[in-house]
Amino acid sequence: MQTIGIIGIGLAGLRCAAELRAGGFTGQIIGWSAESGIPYDRPPLSKELFGDYLHPLADDGLGDLDELGVDLRGTAGQVRRDGSWFVDDVPVDAVIVATGARPVRSIPGALTLYFADDAEALRTSITPGSTVHVVGAGWIGMEVASAASSIGASVDVWEASEHFLNRTFHGTVDDIWNQWCEEAGVRVHLGEPYPGGPADAVVQATGALPDVDFLEWGTRSRRGAIVADQFGRALNVSGEVIEGLYAAGDCGELDGRPGGHWTQALSDAKWVTAAILGLDAPRVEPSEVFSTQFGHEITLIGEVPAGDPGVREGLSIRWDTGAFLGIDAPRETSRARKALRKALNA
Ligand SMILES: Cc1cc2nc3c(=O)[nH]c(=O)nc-3n(C[C@H](O)[C@H](O)[C@H](O)COP(=O)(O)OP(=O)(O)OC[C@H]3O[C@@H](n4cnc5c(N)ncnc54)[C@H](O)[C@@H]3O)c2cc1C
Repeated sequence: MQTIGIIGIGLAGLRCAAELRAGGFTGQIIGWSAESGIPYDRPPLSKELFGDYLHPLADDGLGDLDELGVDLRGTAGQVRRDGSWFVDDVPVDAVIVATGARPVRSIPGALTLYFADDAEALRTSITPGSTVHVVGAGWIGMEVASAASSIGASVDVWEASEHFLNRTFHGTVDDIWNQWCEEAGVRVHLGEPYPGGPADAVVQATGALPDVDFLEWGTRSRRGAIVADQFGRALNVSGEVIEGLYAAGDCGELDGRPGGHWTQALSDAKWVTAAILGLDAPRVEPSEVFSTQFGHEITLIGEVPAGDPGVREGLSIRWDTGAFLGIDAPRETSRARKALRKALNA
């Protein structure tokens, strides 16, 4: 293998480059990036929206493009196979697609939060005393509501389902988030589609979908992600591996695990690298979501079983499956992570 192409140099793409080098790959790595500027971390865009929101991934030791020797190009328009693989007109021996996701946009004039430019636009529109409408009470919607209320904006949140963070918790955390919102003066309208109305900023936070429209290869999951095996090898409609085509991060669904989380992008990069370089299989990591809202540090380890309220430990919640929601509970969270990791790799 001489040349590896990585499309999308966000967290997953950069980590793939770093893992490939760490695994001994000395050939050429060509990266295609639709964003100008150096790769940065997305979680601070919402958590530190009104502070130091731009964190280069290199500063956190996650990979430096120059040190990794990545030959950087612009947006990739096409992937094709004609003997070998081509990204646009550049021949490569393997293609890693790591193009992430794009926020759903359906409300005219609404802002979204995914890219650094989005954060800049929100910082301009949301000021102390401004009226902010947040549509969607998922992770990003609630982080924006929390950040906006912390600087003295007047915030309303609309959520079409009956619950906070419904896709993750299925209604088991409503009392906790209700109390935080009440304390912060955030008005929440659960079970109500957004009615519109005058606001200085409308923020649509109703999810993000895999950004893979440019790719004609492989099959797609229900949410439109590239279907891949545990090693990130893209599969065709018959479930067979497409040699030389890989997916990592939010644009992929490896072994049935939907992307969308930071730690999974890191894990995917390890598995894809193991497949390309023929290394031992890495350990399986439990799914993990972290968040900062209303002054609380929140970490969810594992998947929450639907219909099971779990057992409360203060604000934190533990489920029989080993899943654990740690709220301001770093030690218990770390123990839960270790236990679940051990169980998954037994
Ligand atoms: C505001 C925000 C807060 C978040 N907070 C958390 C959190 O607290 N905890 C958590 O677990 N996760 C969080 N996430 C999710 C986490 O950041 C993602 O899971 C992670 O960034 C996924 O990395 P990725 O490399 O797959 O995608 P991305 O980081 O989106 O990178 C993909 C890159 O590919 C580029 N690209 C797309 N198409 C092309 C093309 N055709 N050619 C070239 N380049 C292309 C994109 O422009 C982008 O730069 C958050 C996400 C956002 C937006």
